[in-house]
Amino acid sequence: MRYPVLRIIKDKVLSNARVIADMCGSLEIDVWGVTKGLSGDPRLAALYEEAGFKGVSDSRIRNLKKIKMSGVSLPRQLMRIAMRSELEDMPDIVDVSLQSEPETIRRLDEIYARRGVTGQVLLMIDVGDLREGFWPRELPRAGEYFHDLRGGVEITGVAANFACASGLLPSPENLERLVSYRDMLQDSLDYELPVISVGGTCCLKLIEEKKVPRQVNQVRVCEGVLLGMDTAFNREIPYLERDALTIVAEIIECKHKPSVPSGEIGLQSFGERPIFIDRGMRKRALLGIGRQDVNVDRIIPLEQGVHIVTASSDHLIVDVTEADSTCSGEDFYKLGDTISFRPLYPAMLAASTSEFVELCFE
Ligand SMILES: *Cc1c(COP(=O)(O)O)cnc(C)c1O
Repeated sequence: MRYPVLRIIKDKVLSNARVIADMCGSLEIDVWGVTKGLSGDPRLAALYEEAGFKGVSDSRIRNLKKIKMSGVSLPRQLMRIAMRSELEDMPDIVDVSLQSEPETIRRLDEIYARRGVTGQVLLMIDVGDLREGFWPRELPRAGEYFHDLRGGVEITGVAANFACASGLLPSPENLERLVSYRDMLQDSLDYELPVISVGGTCCLKLIEEKKVPRQVNQVRVCEGVLLGMDTAFNREIPYLERDALTIVAEIIECKHKPSVPSGEIGLQSFGERPIFIDRGMRKRALLGIGRQDVNVDRIIPLEQGVHIVTASSDHLIVDVTEADSTCSGEDFYKLGDTISFRPLYPAMLAASTSEFVELCFE
């Protein structure tokens, strides 16, 4: 085995996905599996398919392309508002996209029509998170923007995001508002908009409590399936597995050193000024993983007596002094051993994106 690896236990991801699919299914809500958490890895898309999700969703066209090439047959949704420079790539790969700029939608319509394919568009509505989406005041005029689409794209619904940019939480009240915006758009466009899509994982809480308006029929999730966590509501999701993913890194140096550096201290390589507390001599393990591969503030050591000290681009330093004392043996950790961590969302994102971390599905 080459390290570092991001280890993914397939059965646990699948079991989480099935639990979510069943729960949402009982309320007639389709689940679209978001793959960006593992950089669009097709093996994840295949698990989503196996669990009965209705589509895959990613923010990058390149990820959706990989999934398409892998043979997973679920429809593909592009979740990030498209750049003008990527529109030409979409007809071959993207079945549904989330959009918020009329100009982009009209260009997309032209491009899809020229290629002789039809794409679907969900209009993003900003219900207050202040990332992407039509501001509600624009909605009554939407009909004017879209009355002359030429059949390249069809607008089939609306979508909204929660807890992405500002941490706005979904509530029965703001979801009802989303439904009313959909109705307003329907009136303005004068055709049916059957889809109301919400995301991400934070929406599961309202689904659990059956507090979602019945018109909401699609949810996009990533974090819950992979990590069993709901960062927005700051909770562990009690009915999901939280240990499906681990990051494993290898010890490349293991030595006793003082806990305070010697000499004049400036800023470390990331422009921060570390704080040192004198704990005497400590046993420090240097791991072959760094800030280029992982967000070191967002990983949790899984083994007892391991504490993260600091990290630079290519190294993570952990204090393992206690591991020796708690585990009778003199040298609990040695050169060549590995140490495992539980990634939180940002660390999972970084690790799966780093070409130096291998994704290992087991
Ligand atoms: C990332 C993302 C999601 C998934 O969010 P999670 O909280 O990880 O489930 C859903 N929708 C959009 C638009 C996203 O960018």
